[in-house]
Amino acid sequence: SIRAPAARKATTLSVAVKCRPLTDREGGRDIVRVNNDKEVVILDPDLSKDYLDRIQNRSKERRYAFDYAFGPKSTNLGVYEKSIQSTIAGVIQGLNATVFAYGSTGSGKTYTMVGTKNDPGLMVLSLNTIFNRIKNDKSSDVFQVTCSYLEVYNEVIYDLLEKSSGHLELREDPEQGIVVPGLRCIKVNSADKILELLNLGNSRRKTESTEVNETSSRSHAVLEITVTRKQRDKYSNQVIRGKLALVDLAGSERACETNSGGQKLRDGANINRSLLALANCINALGKQQKKGLAYVPYRNSKLTRILKDGLSGNSQTIMIATISPAVSQYHHTVNTLKYADRAK
Ligand code: ADP
Ligand code: MG
Repeated sequence: SIRAPAARKATTLSVAVKCRPLTDREGGRDIVRVNNDKEVVILDPDLSKDYLDRIQNRSKERRYAFDYAFGPKSTNLGVYEKSIQSTIAGVIQGLNATVFAYGSTGSGKTYTMVGTKNDPGLMVLSLNTIFNRIKNDKSSDVFQVTCSYLEVYNEVIYDLLEKSSGHLELREDPEQGIVVPGLRCIKVNSADKILELLNLGNSRRKTESTEVNETSSRSHAVLEITVTRKQRDKYSNQVIRGKLALVDLAGSERACETNSGGQKLRDGANINRSLLALANCINALGKQQKKGLAYVPYRNSKLTRILKDGLSGNSQTIMIATISPAVSQYHHTVNTLKYADRAK
């Protein structure tokens, strides 16, 4: 079961867990029950001593506590407003932030990040907030918002805003930090078109059928939103830049669980390398938070190098761990919760 404690003090790293509803296919609606799955996740906002004592006696239960926990009835907007919105507001003041969705294939990562017309995801909602804040900004500063959308597949970078993107490289620029030369960067003026753009980009993502799931995302997709603010003060004309990275990670299931060889295993190994590198960075950040300076190993994968700005300095990192309530996904759910737990 998952408990949602009362909001903790503001930290640079927070972890939210989101449990999706059972799908129709899993038996969420009993039209055609294929798997006849049952729900095995309990979300408990009750922190009472009584509850903890009761649960202690049930040895099969595993308990985890996170900064936020969201159940099957929650909407993307609900998740967004509680766990992310206040961070996003800082981006127009020059804050860097990273939000990533971690979980096995089918757990709801893309639903959470991109969403649908009726339930827009965190990428869309974040852009909305950014434009609203800019609109209501009282200063005479001039803002510019740009977006790029890339994927890391097999440790190679591709542009999801291009029809057929070639391999792109990473470069470290002494002034700008990490840059990807040739990556398309578009100016945006509202959040209106972004859902279409993301869906188009996602249709270009490398998916491949595995024996575990029909389609499994084998790549990490990164939407980067940059807000440039030019101050038009009598005394200063400083330029402030805030970067927000929103990441739809590849399915976290391990390569050894899919009974497939060759190319697919190589994919798996690389996916694990990026996820492992990310986990190690997150762990180091957690230690940094508690004990002061620690070495954060950004250089070990393309993904962590791309995310470096949003994982260092005074930036804020938010991890959304997505899980399914289905008993058939128990194994994946436990792995995801363990990963999320280690991140704290
Ligand atoms: P992932 O990207 O992690 O592989 P998806 O986001 O594609 O998983 O979600 C898997 C399935 O579950 C999709 O059919 C999606 O529409 C559905 N789903 C996920 N989250 C929700 C939710 N909160 N409400 C309704 N359906 C959801
Ligand atoms: Mg997906």
